[in-house]
Amino acid sequence: MNALPRSIKEAGVFATVFDHPEFHDHEDVVYVRDRETGLSAIIAIHSTALGPSLGGCRVWPYASHAEALTDALRLSRGMTYKNALAGLDLGGGKAVIIADPRKDKTPEMMEAFGRHVNRLSGTYITAEDVGVSPEDMEYIANSTAHVRGTRATGLGDPSPYTALGVFTGIKAAVRHVYGTDDLTGLTVSVQGLGHVGSDVAARLHEAGAKLIVSDIHAPSVLKAIETFDARAVDPAEAHRVEADIFAPCALGAGLNAGTIPQIQAKIVAGAANNQLQTPADGEALKARGILYAPDYAINAGGVISIALATPGGSDEAVRRKTLAIGDTLTEIFKRASAEDKTPEQIADRIAEERLSA
Ligand code: NAD
Repeated sequence: MNALPRSIKEAGVFATVFDHPEFHDHEDVVYVRDRETGLSAIIAIHSTALGPSLGGCRVWPYASHAEALTDALRLSRGMTYKNALAGLDLGGGKAVIIADPRKDKTPEMMEAFGRHVNRLSGTYITAEDVGVSPEDMEYIANSTAHVRGTRATGLGDPSPYTALGVFTGIKAAVRHVYGTDDLTGLTVSVQGLGHVGSDVAARLHEAGAKLIVSDIHAPSVLKAIETFDARAVDPAEAHRVEADIFAPCALGAGLNAGTIPQIQAKIVAGAANNQLQTPADGEALKARGILYAPDYAINAGGVISIALATPGGSDEAVRRKTLAIGDTLTEIFKRASAEDKTPEQIADRIAEERLSA
């Protein structure tokens, strides 16, 4: 039988949001309810030090309000670091709507959410995240101008830019380890062949890399085998196959005490968010001599495209800033080697330096 929690805190219930372990000096946490449409949401603004906070809106059937709050706080602080490290003049924020995107979400609910975003006078700018479709973004935009990634404001799907950044980041990691960024003949295990993973795989294939692919969705795997002459493995094997690079492009927390001892690759660099289960996993990778590209550094191409897109304009500025992810990672890797730190620790520090400058 599971032991009962010994305190209110251990049970995940906090007297106020200030006591929450993920609070980290958020500037604003707004609880939102709209009875008519059934909207229940939390908008968390971690920092506006570099500009208005930008972060997506997630619609998810959280088991409890406490779980939703934890997610909002974690994600919003993550956006502060991601935006700062990417050199964007934007702070970090995030919104979560407590609803099942398949069953509960309605156009009216999204419009009500937009009205609440509007009340924040632009200190929070919303965008797409898990559970939110391009159509939902248009409904939100009916009620507020503080929105990015809509037909009127953006370049559309951010995934190609995320993939471009990940590919550039993989090359930076290869350069750091092998002294050249020639990918010819290197083997990459790509886990997850969705919007980003399949695009990264295509770029790697074109650059002459050999691919090992995995996904829980069989048709995506079959397509990759045919298109990229790839070898398929079970998703649970993706991290431990013999490869030079492991590219996690599925879900988070894949780098943990169970998987890290089994990794054979010299480099871990992929698109997935929150790859390290705990900060200690960054240390464990370093102890094994595996170079890890911090996820929020390498996968920033999508937010760059959302932030910098101009309606009807060219994507040149977006591409330039996305390609600069390679330089940022090179700096992170060099400083990490010189200072005997993990790349994650250095990335955090660079972001914090920019925030306090
Ligand atoms: P997606 O939903 O299009 O693709 C995810 C793929 O992973 C799907 O094909 C799914 O079947 C597969 N998958 C799920 N669980 C798996 C498992 N256990 N093993 C193997 N495959 C599995 O998502 P996406 O937009 O390609 O995003 C991929 C990752 O990159 C996510 O972690 C996302 O948060 C992150 N990310 C995406 C963007 C973007 O622009 N789309 C930006 C930043 C970060």
